[in-house]
Amino acid sequence: MKEADCKRILVTGGAGFLGSHLCEYLLRQGHDVLCVDNFYTGSKHNISNLLAHPRFELMRHDVTFPLYVEVDEIYNLACPASPVHYQNDPVQTTKTSVHGAINMLGLAKRVKAKILQASTSEVYGDPQVHPQTEHYWGHVNPIGIRSCYDEGKRCAETLFMDYRRQHNLHVKIARIFNTYGPRMHPNDGRVVSNFIMQALSNAPLTIYGDGSQTRSFCYVDDLIAAFDKLMNSPDGFCGPVNLGNPTEHTMLELAERVIALSNSRSSIVFKPLPSDDPVRRKPDISLARSVLEWEPRVSLDEGLQRTIDYFKGMRAGLDDEDVDVPAGFTTGMQEQGLHGGSPSPA
Ligand code: NAD
Ligand code: UDP
Ligand code: UDP
Repeated sequence: MKEADCKRILVTGGAGFLGSHLCEYLLRQGHDVLCVDNFYTGSKHNISNLLAHPRFELMRHDVTFPLYVEVDEIYNLACPASPVHYQNDPVQTTKTSVHGAINMLGLAKRVKAKILQASTSEVYGDPQVHPQTEHYWGHVNPIGIRSCYDEGKRCAETLFMDYRRQHNLHVKIARIFNTYGPRMHPNDGRVVSNFIMQALSNAPLTIYGDGSQTRSFCYVDDLIAAFDKLMNSPDGFCGPVNLGNPTEHTMLELAERVIALSNSRSSIVFKPLPSDDPVRRKPDISLARSVLEWEPRVSLDEGLQRTIDYFKGMRAGLDDEDVDVPAGFTTGMQEQGLHGGSPSPA
């Protein structure tokens, strides 16, 4: 890359699952990367292979506090994404989305940086329109246990659009649908990591409800490619744009696939469905296809196999007693963390 093309890029939440893949991708492209994280759900382990890189810098910082740095672009990913984690400290979750967005937008305004927000399919709530297009305004409970995340992300979208209208900021909004892959936290509480960790130890897979609810799973490499395309899309385009894999599966199908692909002897057990759990979710990605010329390439079986191999490798490096098998929603918070206990804010 020519020196003139090398940008200074800030990734908030850069030590998390998606953030660590993004930092790695941007370094490979030849950019300078500043990773900012408070290690609430992320870890240094995720970026350990980047720490010695001459164009990589790590800063421990909570985005709810102001941040004064000089950068050309910002990817704002800081926010816990797993329901178990974002519901553990719901007030902090809303603060992270709302105060975090204000601070990062204020920073973008001062240094005239382009800024991308990691929004979510959760802005559609428990959708009554299927599949979900960007025109749908959603069906969201403002006072439920998922609201800290859903409404925080909705408010962040509002702030992004108002900074664009009021201050002419270059903003981009990605509505990310369920994404999975290597470096998800093994006790993250999300369905893919739970099922794989359970299958690898031949423990029962915990399905919440009857397993007929659906999700559409995108492999992480596909999503990172879309982030790049969105950040570099024409100035007039800000989204919001759905990013995800439109192939829809029930949780029962997912459980059966994970068991088969990992050659597991696990059975399936059914646990209570948490409140406000969306019944169906599938992105309409026509907008991403036409504007970004992007669509996912990795099939669910291929992506699951890569993720299973990653978790197998990780388990092989640990003693059996260090490996907590996720026991499901009701006990999840007590069981988090290969690294000792539940994640705590820095
Ligand atoms: P993750 O929990 O692995 O990563 C989030 C990162 O943000 C962690 O490293 C965490 O320590 C950091 N963080 C949290 N609060 C912070 C704060 N106040 N200050 C600084 N850092 C903070 O989750 P992920 O899956 O990598 O998600 C990344 C982003 O993408 C999140 O904003 C999430 O809402 C969004 N998203 C993810 C998915 C998905 O399926 N993975 C779907 C929709 C949206
Ligand atoms: N901010 C920041 N870094 C900067 C500039 C601003 O963190 O480089 C924060 C600052 O704390 C402020 C917020 O961003 O509260 C919003 O900034 P803006 O300029 O939009 O509003 P104001 O400073 O007028 O409140
Ligand atoms: N789920 C499940 N078993 C688990 C974890 C989750 O059946 O061990 C269900 C959960 O109730 C939801 C779906 O899987 O219906 C996806 O959950 P996840 O937490 O991964 O993401 P989200 O609900 O935010 O889409």
